Amino acid sequence: MTTTKRNATRPVRVGSVTIGGDHPVAVQSMCATRTQDVDATVEQAESIRKAGGDVVRVAVDNPRDVEALAEVRRQTSANLVVDLQENYRLAAQVAPHVDKIRYNPGHLYHHEREKSPAQKVAFLVDVAREHDCALRVGVNCGSVDPELKARYPEDDIQAMVESALEHCRILDDLGFERFVVSLKDSHPRKVIEGNRRFAEARPDVPLHLGVTEAGIPPEGVIKTRVAFEQLISRGVGDTIRVSLTLPNPRKYEEIVVGRQILADIDAGRFRSVPVFDDDKLNIISCPSCSRVENERFVELAEAVKEMTVYAERHALTIAVMGCRVNGPGETDDADLGLWCGPTHVNLKKRTETVGAYTYDEILPKLRQELDQLIDARTPAAV
Ligand code: SF4
Repeated sequence: MTTTKRNATRPVRVGSVTIGGDHPVAVQSMCATRTQDVDATVEQAESIRKAGGDVVRVAVDNPRDVEALAEVRRQTSANLVVDLQENYRLAAQVAPHVDKIRYNPGHLYHHEREKSPAQKVAFLVDVAREHDCALRVGVNCGSVDPELKARYPEDDIQAMVESALEHCRILDDLGFERFVVSLKDSHPRKVIEGNRRFAEARPDVPLHLGVTEAGIPPEGVIKTRVAFEQLISRGVGDTIRVSLTLPNPRKYEEIVVGRQILADIDAGRFRSVPVFDDDKLNIISCPSCSRVENERFVELAEAVKEMTVYAERHALTIAVMGCRVNGPGETDDADLGLWCGPTHVNLKKRTETVGAYTYDEILPKLRQELDQLIDARTPAAV
């Protein structure tokens, strides 16, 4: 039981757990197995639950995933949440099997463009009410809707906060209170600032904290710890997810790490510096999920980390993403981005595509591009 003073958010029930109010900070994780591999998904959901996971997220992209989800629901007692991508209408099919549905306001724009976001949210609210589900408004700094991005060209944090506030207003107008909000980015500074601003504007709304694509331990743990310490110690945050790049058998460690960070904050054991270093090599990698198309992704993320040690004093960002769903967009802000396909890894320099390389070719190619970037930034000797 935490003794850290918390903001007075309203309680939101998700299955057997309640997020917000004076309830302990809930800890979540996400299955990285293929959802259609029911045995593997049930095993992972159970290992997360047994490690102390209060909520387990599962990715669902199509009707076959929905069928698998129904079977997963029968075989686990974990509180389940589903992550909707662009097809928001899938909510109606998944809702009978889950306790919470997460939607990303930045993704609501892709389908049925003739409908307003408010109309789409009204649909989600009807579904949630009918099936006793909570909602999460999950805003991502990298995928904020284009209109807001254009309104705040110099302040992507404010664009993210405004997107969350806009959806809170839509939900308020619909008289729906059973929702939480998340504002995520791969940089702890943006996570801290975004959540701080949001909590000031809407102290009543429970917050789900997370640093996306935090990467491989121990660096991924450090980035997350920096953000959580700054926020939770100030009473901000009602549930957490630690997103680490881990092989499937170790996925439950996200819960172990999350609980350890909470225990340390509660006991006043602060280990991080308040600001995350901006002047060093920053490697971000996604935590992987059922959408990973080649299992060599985790191995690749580890190899990138080892290979780039020589460049650690350069302020560059390298992003390594597991799939084509979020990979292309989430690598746009990185100096060098890799996103994995079934047989090839796509390499980008910010928004520009460099090419697609086999898993055996990609590391030397990455090294070549990295050397060029370093050379371009190093002043020529006189
Ligand atoms: S980038 Fe793709 S594989 Fe990685 S967590 Fe996101 S959706 Fe899953």
